[in-house]
Amino acid sequence: QAANIGVVGLAVMGSNLARNLASREGNTVAVFNRTHAKTEELVAEHPEAGFVSTASYEEFAAALQKPRTAIIMVKAGGPTDAVIDALVEVFEPGDIIVDGGNSLFTDTIRREKAVRETGINYVGMGVSGGEEGALLGPSLMPGGSDESWITLGPILRSIAAIAEGEPCVTHVGHDGAGHFVKMVHNGIEYADMQLIAEAYDLIRRGTGKSPAEIAEVFAEWNKGELESYLIEITAEVLRQVDAATGQPLVDVILDQAGAKGTGAWTVQTALSLGTPVSGIAEATFARSLSSHPEQREISRDLPGPTEGFTAQDPDAFIEQVRLALYASKIVAYSQGFDEIRAGAAEYDWNIDLGKIAAIWRGGCIIRARFLNRITDAYSETPDLPVLLTAPFFVDVFTRAQDAWREIVATSAKVGIPAPAFSSSLAYYDGLRAERLPAALIQGQRDFFGAHTYKRIDKPGTFHTLWSGDRTEIEAEDTH
Ligand code: NDP
Repeated sequence: QAANIGVVGLAVMGSNLARNLASREGNTVAVFNRTHAKTEELVAEHPEAGFVSTASYEEFAAALQKPRTAIIMVKAGGPTDAVIDALVEVFEPGDIIVDGGNSLFTDTIRREKAVRETGINYVGMGVSGGEEGALLGPSLMPGGSDESWITLGPILRSIAAIAEGEPCVTHVGHDGAGHFVKMVHNGIEYADMQLIAEAYDLIRRGTGKSPAEIAEVFAEWNKGELESYLIEITAEVLRQVDAATGQPLVDVILDQAGAKGTGAWTVQTALSLGTPVSGIAEATFARSLSSHPEQREISRDLPGPTEGFTAQDPDAFIEQVRLALYASKIVAYSQGFDEIRAGAAEYDWNIDLGKIAAIWRGGCIIRARFLNRITDAYSETPDLPVLLTAPFFVDVFTRAQDAWREIVATSAKVGIPAPAFSSSLAYYDGLRAERLPAALIQGQRDFFGAHTYKRIDKPGTFHTLWSGDRTEIEAEDTH
């Protein structure tokens, strides 16, 4: 029996995506895994799926209807290259290879170019939602050619999460656009998680509430404007009691956060694009800091505030933390969308930013009620240069900024680290500033490197003869 779609790589993500595909009307799914025992295991465990089991790339290609469509779900990097090379050998022009792994978008650009030369279509696709999303409905961010979208679109729409009646998938843009957007999605996820963690830490230290009590605070927040998957699972994690010790689980988990690299990619890419994603960067670095026990150990006795900290009015304090979290979260998303905008300009992708917010409403880890507001903001002003200046967000800042400042000031004063809260506020105030001390930096650059400067009062490029008589001359622009 010919299959209309195939999956290569049957670890947790691939198996679940294959089962999701198989559960949709009209699909027959061919499956292949380098280690064949895993293929046999999956097929045996899920007879209802009607999988077509294949033991070699040749068998896999032969099992697929033409034009063939295959989704690769293997480890990013070398393994993905190995599978692509093998598929290119057995596929034909017009066939479609989709990489659903967490590939770096520049790898996807390179692979798309190489595979396109064989006449085969190549699509790099971001998949979000973890294993559960893959099985029940992920958020999908495919790049690649318009031609491949014609075939892929209906299949992807059938397996994606549904949010407010709409499947969470869109053709993001050409070549690496899908993986780029997925990368930024993960960066925003880092920032969101860090902000939530800072909120928890402040509440715990400021009010003395137990994790279970703080779980109730988050559960309550999840009924309002902060409603999101991450807030929801935070309550679940905080509620969990460790069976072995009877302690809150969060108190027995080692306080070192791991990372698989997509946060770092988001920051590295932002650095080369010149886009300040400070919230995402702080979140990534906060994980790094946590994971250096030797540095933390030796630093424990550094001087800090001597007074303990107790919020005078716990309920009012918790409300301030909530507002600070909301404001900082808007900054993180705004920075992320700024990076997507900059990436689209750099790589010549036509990305509909409002649509990206819409496909993140379901399936993915950062799904949240307020994504609708981002879609609204971009529908009203598609080329909005800074997302957080949309009227809805301005209203939030109007309400939240006093509390936000109070929380950042308190955290600094009492010595509770809140890097994401405070860097978000600094970014916000940096954007607001009528004049920045960048003028001084430009003066310093001109002093030691003759890097020149522009003037506020006339056009042209200037240099002061610092080591001479300190007069100003017109200069070549060497910015
Ligand atoms: P892993 O990333 O652990 O990858 C395991 C799979 O890769 C196995 O099928 C393995 O085959 C295969 N593989 C490894 N090396 C090779 C090779 N040289 N040639 C062929 N196949 C190879 O699996 P996951 O399911 O966790 O993730 C799959 C992809 O999805 C990754 O790129 C991941 O980053 C991405 N992803 C994961 C998410 C998650 O929540 N886990 C969420 C979204 C995306 P074998 O059995 O033979 O070893």
